[in-house]
Amino acid sequence: MGRARLPERAEVVVIGAGLSGLRCAMLLADNGLDVLVLEGRERVGGRVLTLDQVTGNPEAGANTMLAGYGRTLDAARSLGLDLVECSRRRSKGDPLIAIGGEAMTAQAWATSPRNPLAAQRRALLPGPALRAELAKVPLPEAPDGWCAPEHAALDVAMRDFLAERGFSEAEIALCHDTNPSQGSNAANVSLANWVFVRSFFAAQRASGPDEWAVKGGNSRLPEAMARTIADRIHLGRTVSAISQRGRDSEVRLASGERVLAGHVVCTLPLAPLRRVAFDPPLPAAHAEAVAQAPNMKITQTHFEAESPFWEEDGLPPDMWTDGLLGNVQVNRGGEDPCAITSLTAWGRGNTALALDRLAPAQAQAQLLAEFERLRPAARGKLRVAGFKSWQADPFAAGDWTVWAPGQAHRLPRASGLAHGRVHFCGEHTALADRGMEGAMESAERVALEILTA
Ligand SMILES: Cc1cc2nc3c(=O)[nH]c(=O)nc-3n(C[C@H](O)[C@H](O)[C@H](O)COP(=O)(O)OP(=O)(O)OC[C@H]3O[C@@H](n4cnc5c(N)ncnc54)[C@H](O)[C@@H]3O)c2cc1C
Repeated sequence: MGRARLPERAEVVVIGAGLSGLRCAMLLADNGLDVLVLEGRERVGGRVLTLDQVTGNPEAGANTMLAGYGRTLDAARSLGLDLVECSRRRSKGDPLIAIGGEAMTAQAWATSPRNPLAAQRRALLPGPALRAELAKVPLPEAPDGWCAPEHAALDVAMRDFLAERGFSEAEIALCHDTNPSQGSNAANVSLANWVFVRSFFAAQRASGPDEWAVKGGNSRLPEAMARTIADRIHLGRTVSAISQRGRDSEVRLASGERVLAGHVVCTLPLAPLRRVAFDPPLPAAHAEAVAQAPNMKITQTHFEAESPFWEEDGLPPDMWTDGLLGNVQVNRGGEDPCAITSLTAWGRGNTALALDRLAPAQAQAQLLAEFERLRPAARGKLRVAGFKSWQADPFAAGDWTVWAPGQAHRLPRASGLAHGRVHFCGEHTALADRGMEGAMESAERVALEILTA
């Protein structure tokens, strides 16, 4: 693994050494194919990234594997990695709510003048109020029904769906667009996208309540996978163009290097794919997905606390705010499952973008100031130990794909279709699973495509 000279040709060139690329390359190598992996970064793992320099090794990328993550859990176990059960490491109670700079407990929220929710949902926190409405939508039977053309009626804007269900503008702004988990605003997210999220989580919960992470950090999984095919992985190799000529394709790198490939497997998320030239060009629907599908914006700030200020002020350590801090969640990454090791401020959607408009040092100073204003007990006790904007990272250019209204019943399937002998995998092409498990699902599909070609 490293910067060895590239061979002239490989039977299969896999672009990207995230989970989907590594899984696909391992399967093809196991089946005797000559595989080469080109990774743009100087590390493997893609959007799996453990912050080893922060106490308790919190994750900047993928956090947990749910009970039904058969492929990912099996990969970790079969590589001899130890797993940690995480559901019991989560905070039990509600977070502290901070709206318009005013901090209050979840109980006080129900009667606060800052609470814009209609009477029937006023006692709920914003996220649960949104999920309660979504729970009324019947799920398609098939796990990939959310993107099936026969369910195109689901492919409407979340904003319209919520407005029809009686949500006011203020409720939509608070329940959907503040600390969103899908997209940045309800007008640009399809209800079908949310139905996918719901049906995926329902299937996972049916497998059990447990959640897992790799002991020592989730990066240990891609690292262990990479060790099994280390001599085939080339780091620091950014692909810029793929041309198909005759039976071989030419894969061109930003460095000017070239490799010929019998098959190419492209695992790039849609946004970084915009920087890769295809000859012949991608089919129309796939090109539309690359150019226009939105993705999640996430900027994380990781804090270490010198002493447990939450014991001093007696308030919940987790916070849900409508300010730059976004959603603050504690991490319990040590041997003791109850001990808080660090805190992560998740800036999502427009909050992530607002943070990215500031210089990192300025963003961190403002976040610390906001934290100390909301929690005077934290004054002088916090240190920023990690900071990561996924949008500012050119190899991700954002996080998971979010399908916009009108896209969900047309583009997800098109994004996974082979284009001649160029194949596409990655989390955004998975139709039944999401996240890490989706990445693994998609890798198996593409390995089979090539093995049966
Ligand atoms: C903050 C955050 C939280 C998350 N939480 C969870 C969670 O709790 N559970 C869960 O299951 N999932 C979670 N995910 C999602 C999960 O991390 C991803 O779905 C999964 O890792 C995607 O794998 P992939 O192989 O599809 O893509 P990636 O990991 O993005 O791999 C693509 C690879 O391609 C490389 N690349 C890009 N451009 C080029 C180029 N031009 N040339 C060569 N190489 C290139 C990249 O460097 C990368 O290594 C989270 C992600 C983030 C960021």
